[in-house]
Amino acid sequence: MDVIIVGGGPAGSTCAWKLREAGFETLVLDRAAFPRTKLCAGWVTPDAVDDLQLDPNQYPFSWMTFDRLHLHWTVFTARPRAMQHSIRRVEFDDFLLRRAGVPVLQHKVRDIRSNGGDYVVDGQFRSRYLVGAGGTSCPVYRTLFREHRPRNRWQQTVTAEQEFAYDWKDPACHLWFFQDGLPGYAWYVPKANGFLNVGVGAMANQLKRRHEPIQTYWHSFTARLRNSGLVRFDSYNPTGYSYYLRDSNDVVSRDNACIIGDAVGLATRDMCEGIGPAIRSGLLAARSIANGEDYSISEISKFSGNGLASKILERRFLNCRPRDSLTVEQP
Ligand SMILES: Cc1cc2nc3c(=O)[nH]c(=O)nc-3n(C[C@H](O)[C@H](O)[C@H](O)COP(=O)(O)OP(=O)(O)OC[C@H]3O[C@@H](n4cnc5c(N)ncnc54)[C@H](O)[C@@H]3O)c2cc1C
Repeated sequence: MDVIIVGGGPAGSTCAWKLREAGFETLVLDRAAFPRTKLCAGWVTPDAVDDLQLDPNQYPFSWMTFDRLHLHWTVFTARPRAMQHSIRRVEFDDFLLRRAGVPVLQHKVRDIRSNGGDYVVDGQFRSRYLVGAGGTSCPVYRTLFREHRPRNRWQQTVTAEQEFAYDWKDPACHLWFFQDGLPGYAWYVPKANGFLNVGVGAMANQLKRRHEPIQTYWHSFTARLRNSGLVRFDSYNPTGYSYYLRDSNDVVSRDNACIIGDAVGLATRDMCEGIGPAIRSGLLAARSIANGEDYSISEISKFSGNGLASKILERRFLNCRPRDSLTVEQP
């Protein structure tokens, strides 16, 4: 095998797609059987759609396009023009992985070793190149990169969310910033074919300092949705996930191994969006393997926007970070 990719999310499948096109024998290992659930609000940017060379008209699953975002901050509401698309990750990730056209094996990776210039995974799989696309708990990150790229707990987000069948009436995408003191934002993202995704996300360390779990904000948010009449739903059963925003450590490759997507921690510092950066990093890693170039993430933006609002959001999300607060993540 030329390349083993651990993880078949958007980062891994994009990398696999381009490596297959470049003629590399590539295997994807994922602990989950696809289609698999991935906690995510599931809005994607036009740039990510371009990177994927996707024609929305040809996409066979749930797809919605928003021309404006509805942003709420205390009593103020703004409706800036900002094109975004909503997809369902359970469909989107499976579609991308199938489209990659490489073999995919359901296998939870535990052990990674170097042997004679190759990588040996769990004593069963051998390859010349190894790509870590396993998200926050990626075993390639853990084994080969954690020591060189410790995760910064001040950049860690925690989330609680739920996607469910719902006959929504309001087709707009709403975001509420800092509601009830949340160090983050809450969202309402309608999906095509009668689904809705609602959730809250916040900076983990700020919550910890306040001794307030994310569930507290989840309860107040869903109560507000109900009281405002936007969502009348009674069977909430949210789940949580944690991931990291982009920091300034650019160690992403060693020898013939590299990490991409959430395994690096590439989500934007203003909006915490990770799908676009995951896809872009998959493209860059594939290009570096195919062309024998260095793999660098310097061309991936740390921000979703480029104006004053982005700077304000970054400051609010990351303002509590003391100097030298590097902490190795314990998966
Ligand atoms: C609640 C929530 C809402 C979000 N909303 C948005 C949004 O609206 N827009 C946006 O841009 N970003 C959003 N994000 C961030 C986005 O979901 C991630 O940044 C993105 O999924 C990263 O893709 P990835 O391919 O790196 O990782 P993932 O999509 O997490 O894929 C990693 C894969 O690795 C596999 N894996 C893990 N460990 C192993 C192992 N040991 N062996 C084998 N396989 C393994 C997993 O099964 C998984 O399939 C959100 C995140 C959360 C938690």
